[in-house]
Amino acid sequence: MQIGLLPNTDFLKGTLELTRFGEIIVDAKGQTSVPGVLAAGDCTTVPYKQIIIAMGEGAKASLAAFDHLIRTSAPA
Ligand SMILES: Cc1cc2nc3c(=O)[nH]c(=O)nc-3n(C[C@H](O)[C@H](O)[C@H](O)COP(=O)(O)OP(=O)(O)OC[C@H]3O[C@@H](n4cnc5c(N)ncnc54)[C@H](O)[C@@H]3O)c2cc1C
Repeated sequence: MQIGLLPNTDFLKGTLELTRFGEIIVDAKGQTSVPGVLAAGDCTTVPYKQIIIAMGEGAKASLAAFDHLIRTSAPA
């Protein structure tokens, strides 16, 4: 995060857990405080706000979304 820049996450207040800086709190898989809601990139608590980090976090969050869906979807 560049000094002075804040993530545009005001619309998430009251739904997802945010830091006092407005970053979405995520775990190592990009999972937020709401099951099935993933987040990635500069708007999250991930350290080192760089392009390659955001790309990797996006890939991780996509895999975590898949993981969540196969574990929670009703059997056919
Ligand atoms: C001046 C500057 C220089 C930088 N230089 C480098 C560098 O040299 N190398 C490097 O690796 N990183 C650099 N970075 C950091 C890099 O830009 C970020 O880490 C990266 O862009 C993060 O990607 P992101 O997809 O998480 O977020 P972003 O690239 O910020 O993308 C977020 C997108 O979401 C959109 N958006 C926001 N709110 C909403 C909404 N409510 N609804 C819909 N869309 C919304 C925004 O318009 C934006 O397009 C720099 C950053 C800055 C500010």
